[in-house]
Amino acid sequence: MSALAKNYNRRKIAFKRGKGSFLYSTNGKKYLDFVQGIAVNSLGHANPKLIRAIQNQSRKIWHVSNAFLIPEGERLAKRLTNKTFAENVIFQNSGAEATEAAIKVARRYFYVKGKPKKNKILCIKNSFHGRTIAAIYASGSKKMTEGFGPKVTGFDHIEFKDFKPRFPNLKNKIKKNTAAIMVETVMGEGGIKPIPVKCLKYLRKICNKKKILLILDEVQCGIGRSGKFFAYEYANIKPDIVPIAKGLGGGFPIGALLMTKKVASSMVPGTHGSTFGGNPLAMSVGNAVLDEIFKIGFLKNVQKISKYFHLELNKIKNDYPHVIKEVRGLGLLIGLKLFNNQNKFIKKLEDNKLLTIKAAENVVRILPPLNVKKSEINLALKIIKKVCRDFNT
Ligand SMILES: *Cc1c(COP(=O)(O)O)cnc(C)c1O
Repeated sequence: MSALAKNYNRRKIAFKRGKGSFLYSTNGKKYLDFVQGIAVNSLGHANPKLIRAIQNQSRKIWHVSNAFLIPEGERLAKRLTNKTFAENVIFQNSGAEATEAAIKVARRYFYVKGKPKKNKILCIKNSFHGRTIAAIYASGSKKMTEGFGPKVTGFDHIEFKDFKPRFPNLKNKIKKNTAAIMVETVMGEGGIKPIPVKCLKYLRKICNKKKILLILDEVQCGIGRSGKFFAYEYANIKPDIVPIAKGLGGGFPIGALLMTKKVASSMVPGTHGSTFGGNPLAMSVGNAVLDEIFKIGFLKNVQKISKYFHLELNKIKNDYPHVIKEVRGLGLLIGLKLFNNQNKFIKKLEDNKLLTIKAAENVVRILPPLNVKKSEINLALKIIKKVCRDFNT
């Protein structure tokens, strides 16, 4: 009997080691891992450069607390701001902490401006921003909030389907007390649904017009996953606040909040903090991840290989039009939307040694490491094709 609580539906496999795109189970099987810790292991398993970074740092200092200067964190923050819209960074340990910090910063910004009542955050219903008490109410999902009342107020919701040109409903939802709009640039858990470029541009425009803040949650789609460093770059816009996490640590827990100087100026000593956030061990790994992702040609290659993957997946969809309804996503954040419940399909893929994970709306989520090889994509395609064939008969 497991002593762990039963809040996860775990598959009955354990792994003894991993290498790149592959995982080796304790019972001697080799799997192509296109889950990668849910978009976390951006450079695959047991990446030698990340191993070296953590080994080197672990001999020097693990943790000192934010009572002191942390050069590794200064460096990581500088590199993140040099490459993006952001001017300031707060480090956290997870995605939910980063989105929580985003909410705090947005509210504090208007508080300092003398508008303490301007504190509502407008979110998309059934989105995903993490599992803390505030984040579940930000998502507005009944499944996530059920039993965890009292309801946390301060969030309003729009429907994803309202994200069509002109957004008649969006305009009505922005009220005097709205401080920010917070959306995932690509909805991950919600079914791999990118917010169309046109809509992102419109969001920026309306936020400017109403003088409110735009928070883009890039916890899952950020750090190169989409083929750009951030997915919002496809829309050529600049957000005000961006929480990130998953891919930044390559498997080591890190979260971060990126923001403009204007927004960050309200965060004076004592307004926010984290014991572990930004510790030297995490920061060194983050820097090692960026060493790879910032290499010339790295993101171009993610774009190139993901284009090939999407193209080939669409061919399979066309060959099995009664199995796959749609191929969704951006870059290496890919969803196969099926006509039926995806659980059996995912199990069949697993039986054929390809690991994937589900998302909402019958979606099979496919998350290769960003340095995946073409031969590995071809192997996945072969397995997906075989499973489609089995499902068709
Ligand atoms: C995973 C995720 C989170 C929460 O991250 P945790 O590290 O699990 O707290 C928040 N937002 C998005 C978009 C995510 O995908």
